[in-house]
Amino acid sequence: MSTLLEQSTRVMENIRKRGADLEKYVDMLSLLDRNETLFYRVVIDHIEELMPIIYTPVVGAGCQLYAHLFRRSRGLFITKREKGRIREVLRNWPQKNVRVIVVTDGQRILGLGDLGASGMGIPVGKLSLYTACGGIPPDATLPIMLDVGTNNPALLADPLYLGTNERRIEGAEYDELVAEFVSAVQEIFPKALLQFEDFANHNAFRLLKQYRDKVRCFNDDIQGTASVTLSGLFSAGRITKRRLVDDKILFHGAGEAAIGIGDLVVGAMMADGLTKSEALSRCWFVDSKGLVDSARADLQDHKKPYAHAHTHGPVPDLLAAVKALKPTALIGVSGQAAQFTREIVEAMSRLNERPLIFALSNPTANAECTAEEAYSWSDGRAIFASGSPFAPVVLNGRAFVPGQGNNAYIFPGVGLGVVASGARRVTDEMFSAAARALAKLVTEEDLAKGALFPPLTKVREISARIAEAVSEVCYARGLACVPRPADLRKAIEAAQYQPEYKDYV
Ligand code: NAD
Repeated sequence: MSTLLEQSTRVMENIRKRGADLEKYVDMLSLLDRNETLFYRVVIDHIEELMPIIYTPVVGAGCQLYAHLFRRSRGLFITKREKGRIREVLRNWPQKNVRVIVVTDGQRILGLGDLGASGMGIPVGKLSLYTACGGIPPDATLPIMLDVGTNNPALLADPLYLGTNERRIEGAEYDELVAEFVSAVQEIFPKALLQFEDFANHNAFRLLKQYRDKVRCFNDDIQGTASVTLSGLFSAGRITKRRLVDDKILFHGAGEAAIGIGDLVVGAMMADGLTKSEALSRCWFVDSKGLVDSARADLQDHKKPYAHAHTHGPVPDLLAAVKALKPTALIGVSGQAAQFTREIVEAMSRLNERPLIFALSNPTANAECTAEEAYSWSDGRAIFASGSPFAPVVLNGRAFVPGQGNNAYIFPGVGLGVVASGARRVTDEMFSAAARALAKLVTEEDLAKGALFPPLTKVREISARIAEAVSEVCYARGLACVPRPADLRKAIEAAQYQPEYKDYV
């Protein structure tokens, strides 16, 4: 009989022999089905190597081929046929103490668009990170797909497609199904945190607004992204010696990620003494139609607070916006590749001794610029962060380690904190506290190399610290359902799931 460590070594030996990442993904999912304890041991011990396999970017390909790779179902699929009996469906789930649910409707899976029910790979993958990175016990997690159809013609034409083979339901029919689902969760799993994931832009903002003050929920694409980026801005401030309130941020993109970051930055600036209008005026956005400003009549609600008046005349493109607005930070979240051109990075470097260049669009091929471009076009002065991982860069004999603003730094710790304290709501203040807690864990050595985030290998410790910070907010605001333990840190660490064989000595 092998020990867990021996088995783990064997698994890694075989995984590394696999040529294609997708084969590794399938192997890992099969392991999860076969031996959950071993799966988590392997993932925790090789988190940097395996996170890109079990989550983004490889999970994207896994979702695209979901119906063809399918071996065994995980999680719950809820369709319009279940309307009127969603409570019953949830009650049939074998685990009763569900604490974290990740739900999607598959309409905007990563940057891959509408993958319908094939998007189930995302809740499954994300919840495996709640367990591996945060320590939420696996039997307390529940992946859910609201299978409301798909408008993806390739899926509708695929005879193996596993979802509802119809176009998406919309409007009142969609809203009623979501409403029944949310209320059923409150009844059947009253202690569960509900995380909305990969909903299309229009539904993501709407659903968050509708439910954030009513139930224990959040949207990671909006709030988790915001928190990790805010943390990067805090860490960058330790290099520039500038406070957040002294930054002026230009966003390329004005969607879930961009507005989420803007809103959290505004809150953090207000907490640091600015008025709301002062804080809003520090954030500017360029979307697919140009600069978001008060002259635009075509703006969706979430962009309107940032539609400032200005006297710069026409601002036709991003370069013109950089020259007119003179930002200290440029954040790319448009999903469009190569938008931070040499001219733009050079203009940022003329304006700032240490320009902040965050190229957050995923996957790697969509990044606004590469780490090497940011460093070389700024003569090594750019403070760079990315959405996808970039290898270290050596420039004129100096090594730079680009930081990856991975949401996995934040959501597992937030989840752990919400579960530990029994938070009744998930607030932006908690995401700000998470950002500060993460930034505190960045060492001077990390910063000297240009890394704005601590190594991912420390993610369980990071999650425990974030959980503590989130719980503190929860207790301070009277949102807790669990009495405060004498030693909060210890209690949180003790609650983290450890993959071990219980009966094996
Ligand atoms: P979204 O669809 O909600 O928003 C995209 C925005 O980009 C929209 O406002 C759109 O108008 C704008 N846009 C599109 N083309 C443009 C162009 N040519 N010029 C200017 N603006 C343009 O998507 P999202 O959820 O906000 O995600 C955007 C990107 O951010 C994706 O690539 C995603 O991978 C990335 N992201 C990164 C992280 C991270 O690094 N942790 C987290 C979340 C999202």
